[in-house]
Amino acid sequence: MGRFDQKVAVITGAARGIGFGTAQRFAEEGASVAIVDLDEGAAAEAAAKLSLVDGAKAIGIGANVSDGPSVEAAIDRVVAELGGIHILVNNAGITRDNLLFKMTEDDWDLVMGVHLKGAFLMSKAAQKHFVEQKYGKIVNLSSISAYGNRGQANYSAAKMGVQGFTRTLGIELGPFGINVNAIAPGFIRTEMTEATADRLKMDHDEFFKLNADANPVKRIGYPEDIAAAIAFLCSDEASYITGQTINVDGGVTLG
Ligand code: NAP
Repeated sequence: MGRFDQKVAVITGAARGIGFGTAQRFAEEGASVAIVDLDEGAAAEAAAKLSLVDGAKAIGIGANVSDGPSVEAAIDRVVAELGGIHILVNNAGITRDNLLFKMTEDDWDLVMGVHLKGAFLMSKAAQKHFVEQKYGKIVNLSSISAYGNRGQANYSAAKMGVQGFTRTLGIELGPFGINVNAIAPGFIRTEMTEATADRLKMDHDEFFKLNADANPVKRIGYPEDIAAAIAFLCSDEASYITGQTINVDGGVTLG
């Protein structure tokens, strides 16, 4: 018996990184999984790599979370091909880092569009089904950068916005049997953080060691660390938790 037998989980931006790690975790624990990502081919390839339990299915869907019609079509496909929807993880993300004086309007709009508008559109499309069935779990990906990070005015604002969005959906959707929470990861090794090392012109291993040394547990995080926390929040053991943001960061925000 897996915690997510007979459940359908949709994870955005799951062709790689934290999203893919999360998709693996849900698949191992019994769920059918829809991997939603910009590139349909990459999403389908990732879906094909999942180890599923008997009777579960995985599909890859190409969609842009910041585009309304694309989101509606993605959720319709999930319901048609997997038979319903129970869990939504708003994980798709991008960075367009720059100091304020160099940040362009496009850098701002793109980051807001994926993180904030994307979470809004996906949650709105999913909640129709969740409210009808009086059951649903939403986990949004915030970040410890929400608390302020040089060069990330756009990303930090979006990730703090995700926390306000999460609290508000917690209030609005709680009466319908829907739990909405957020995870704020610290430093997790993915292509996103490798790109940050490249932007800072730092060797990857040196950059990862610096980040490991910066927190009390003295290691960097991996997608599995975030997947475990997301799975807990989507499990029925966490049904009394809603509207919360949990930092999963090796304690780096403890000061
Ligand atoms: P990642 O490796 O860069 O993966 C992000 C995925 O999202 C990519 O596959 C990307 O596709 C996809 N994506 C981007 N824009 C999209 C859109 N409009 N619609 C659908 N999919 C889209 O990132 P990650 O490190 O796993 O991060 C996952 C989430 O955790 C993000 O929300 C990120 O902000 C958050 N987070 C990460 C860290 C960390 O240390 N890694 C820390 C805190 C928070 P393309 O490759 O085609 O662009």
